[in-house]
Amino acid sequence: MFRSLESPTGLIRPELSIPEVLYLIDPDHLGDVLLDEPRFRTDQLRHWLYRTPVFECEDMSNLPTELRSSFELWPFELEFEQIADGETTRKWLFRTPDGAAIESVLMGYPSRATLCLSSQAGCALGCTFCATGQFGFDRHLEAGEIVAQVAWAQAFLRLHGMPGVPDHLTNIVYMGMGEPLANYERVRESLRRVIEVMGISARSVTVSTVGVVPGIRRLADEPWQVNLAVSLHAADDELRSKLVPLNRRYPLAEVEAAAAEYFEKKGRRVSLEWTMLDGVNDTLDQAGKLAPIARRLRAHVNLIAMNPTPLSDDRPSARPAIQHFADRLRELGVNVTIRDTRGRDIDAACGQLRVRAGG
Ligand code: SAH
Ligand code: SF4
Repeated sequence: MFRSLESPTGLIRPELSIPEVLYLIDPDHLGDVLLDEPRFRTDQLRHWLYRTPVFECEDMSNLPTELRSSFELWPFELEFEQIADGETTRKWLFRTPDGAAIESVLMGYPSRATLCLSSQAGCALGCTFCATGQFGFDRHLEAGEIVAQVAWAQAFLRLHGMPGVPDHLTNIVYMGMGEPLANYERVRESLRRVIEVMGISARSVTVSTVGVVPGIRRLADEPWQVNLAVSLHAADDELRSKLVPLNRRYPLAEVEAAAAEYFEKKGRRVSLEWTMLDGVNDTLDQAGKLAPIARRLRAHVNLIAMNPTPLSDDRPSARPAIQHFADRLRELGVNVTIRDTRGRDIDAACGQLRVRAGG
């Protein structure tokens, strides 16, 4: 005889339900899982989750033992970890119970610790040089799955640490797998939790988009001073539409106008990301077309050599070509940085660890 999980009211009976996954619960509703506990327990639990994260519920030392064992903490398991750059770069591949892959990269520096996190499992936008895009789209990540990546990195820095690196995150970039502005509501909620519940300054958070124009405009109207990075990669529609299929829907002029609006509303300069592809977008002609866009936006340009991916024919630009491109932009009055390619030996570009792990 099977016992029904359904109660007469149609609700699942609490004693038979699977353990609650704490990071999937809205932090404002944590009290719902602590029904018979005094109010201060909710604050204690919220503090463990969002202020001093730990890897195991067991380590939440001021909570009663029975309570600790009744929860699941993480909405995923760590499947694979890679370490590089003298242990100052760590890349994690997490797996959710339904099989979705989530990648995060923690990069440590003497005065900074930056987490690059994922907003979707896969990506539907299919940029030619991007490993995530070549994999296609799996699903959106929940706000809790995005925030759990931040909590994991905080727990790691605090409890394990990286040599010569701060013991907490100083920067968060939405530059891992997925297009954050194609998962707007959940990404918005993750920003709210990171900024308002974890207490991380909005100014240290960057959302990177390939140019989802309506999303840029909505983000411009949010109350937080987060930074916007626009992945441009090409400065005319013909080339950009080849590299970034979304350009056919939101062409360059519209992306520029939305970025300008973001700058006006927030007073924060946007940055323009440019993945350097050998013989494709590293020409002085492209630099000449990029310069006026960057000047109009008063934007900072970040150049990064492409990380080769198995499924792409594109190759990284040679170092001298990147240098020439940067020099030309500077001559034309543009602020430009050549970004380091952290974790090159651990497939650190987005989506690449998943390729290695076989899905
Ligand atoms: N979808 C968003 C954010 C995730 S991609 C966006 O495209 O902006 C984050 C950054 O990684 C983007 O600037 C993207 O162009 C870059 N990128 C993707 N594939 C890359 C590769 N193979 N080598 C170097 N950078 C890459
Ligand atoms: Fe998606 Fe960004 Fe990759 Fe393009 S570069 S496929 S938008 S994750």
